[in-house]
Amino acid sequence: MHTNDGMVDALRSFGWITSKKVEAAFRKIDRALFVESGDYAYFDMALPTKSGQTISAPSVVATMLEWLDVHEGMKVLDVGSGSGYNAALLSELVGAKGQVVTIEKYPELGELAKMNIAKLGTGNSEQKTGNIIYVVGDGSEGCGKYAPYDRIVVTAGMPWVDETHPLVKQLRPDGKLVAPVGERHFQGLIVYDKKTGRQLKVLDVMFVPLVGKYGFSE
Ligand code: SAH
Repeated sequence: MHTNDGMVDALRSFGWITSKKVEAAFRKIDRALFVESGDYAYFDMALPTKSGQTISAPSVVATMLEWLDVHEGMKVLDVGSGSGYNAALLSELVGAKGQVVTIEKYPELGELAKMNIAKLGTGNSEQKTGNIIYVVGDGSEGCGKYAPYDRIVVTAGMPWVDETHPLVKQLRPDGKLVAPVGERHFQGLIVYDKKTGRQLKVLDVMFVPLVGKYGFSE
């Protein structure tokens, strides 16, 4: 797999990408700009980012974004900026009228996300990532400053979720949250629908732990 388009074709043929809008976002955002070693950029595997964290496998990112069901103009909270890849894809999905708030606990990773996303600007004047707000802080508490959100996506494993969780409280009444929920190293990917209060488990996943007040200990 040597091109971003080749990766997207494979994600489509295996059924990880099902919608036109998620496909378009994946085609626009080159994964190679977000990983440490370009050699494996287009393989369906988790990879190290520059500061020892990981960028999820593209099939998992695609599954999360398909279930998140993002529409143009929405406000989305992205918890765990990491490399910035997910935030960049969300930026495409919400469009110029929407907003992405991406929150990262570690300042050096917040910077990494910002730097990686800035690379998209070069050589591609169409890229509009001015709709991203970068925040450094404990995303297990959400980000009250910009709440409420239409959608929240968490890309680190959280221990629990229910209607009393601060992240759920920061969702609009018809909002949805997609997050890995479970143990420190193994989780189920959960789609939480605030309107019905129902949780659907869609995939077994392994994310790094969400560390913080409503997450795991350091
Ligand atoms: N979405 C990222 C991958 C995230 S990896 C990408 O597309 O590359 C998980 C990230 O969550 C790590 O960067 C980790 O530092 C961050 N993290 C862990 N606990 C957090 C917390 N309480 N608030 C915000 N970010 C957190």
